[in-house]
Parts: sequence; structure tokens; C-alpha cells
Amino acid sequence: MIEGFNCPNCGAPADHVGAKACNFCSTPFLLANSRSNSSLTNETLGKYADLYKRVTKDDPDYFDSQISLVLIYIKRSLPQLAENLSKKILEEFPDHSDAYLWRAISILKSGEIRKLKIAQAKEASQLIYTGNALTSEDGRSDFIYVAKVLKQQYFNQNDVIPPDQLIEVLEGDCMESDHSSEALLPSILG
Ligand SMILES: [Zn+2]
Repeated sequence: MIEGFNCPNCGAPADHVGAKACNFCSTPFLLANSRSNSSLTNETLGKYADLYKRVTKDDPDYFDSQISLVLIYIKRSLPQLAENLSKKILEEFPDHSDAYLWRAISILKSGEIRKLKIAQAKEASQLIYTGNALTSEDGRSDFIYVAKVLKQQYFNQNDVIPPDQLIEVLEGDCMESDHSSEALLPSILG
């Protein structure tokens, strides 16, 4: 665990990266963990990437830091890096539902969702299904959100029947589910 670093956003000194957010600017340190969206410049995102790389070098098993780096790659429009890293993370952490979530998101962000290859859309459906099955109740709405985007922007747009697995995830959605807390995902997937 690295100790003693500066907040990538405001530069304030911080104790350890496990702390949820900066004491001064309140920006979370691990951006993928907080489901809120922070509008950060490309330059600032680069500083977060540097921090995550440092953490990973120090502690390769620090899942949250690695997954946050996937988010940075997606936000910086570096889809190939996001795809490669998310693939590697999923191989290393097959028990983490977020590994499936971010692998699916990086497939969706590899280009225009409507123009994905059918194999990619099916793989993403499978990832959403498997990750959703692993998650606790709290994580569900993330998966439902990504499933909805995939269904609407790929399957409906191309007049293709979605796989049963995707339908099953969507059936888990209840009318009361509140997606507004997941501001991070709409900011990425639209
Ligand atoms: Zn700060």
C-alpha cells in the first residue's frame, strides 16, 4: 500500500489511497469505486492514471486501483488500452463482479455500440449475466443499466433478438430501481 501522495485533482497531501476521497476537494481517489461522475480534465485524468500505476506496481493485487485505471482509459478515449487491461483484470480476478462490469463496458466502448460485432455483443451479454449473478443486491443496478444500453443501442437498433441471458438480467429490474445514483455510467455510456 503506498503512503504519502498528493491528490491528483487538487494536489493536497493524502495519507493512503484506501481513503475514500480527498479531504480538500472531495474527489474520490479510486474513481471507479464511487459511482458518481467527476468532471476532470484529460491532464488530471493522466495524474490519476499515474497514481493507479504506482499503486499497482506496489500492490498488484489492489483490484480497485486497476479497475479505476480502466475507467481512466475509457474516459480518455483509449479503448484498446481499456480492452487489454480489463481482459487481464478479469483473468486475474474472476471472483470480482466489477471485473465483468468493466470488461463489458470496455467492449461497448470499443467503438460505436450499434456497430459492434455480434460476437462482441454476445460476449458483453454473457459478462453482464455472469457479473450480475456474482454481485450483491447493491451492485445490481449497474448491470441493469449496462444491459439496457446494450439492448437498446445494439440489439434493438440492429433488429437482433437479445440473448436470454441479457433478458434475464433486465427482468431483474424493478420499477423502483433508481439509476440516478449511477451517474458515472450514464456519463460514459450515454
Ligand atoms: Zn483533492
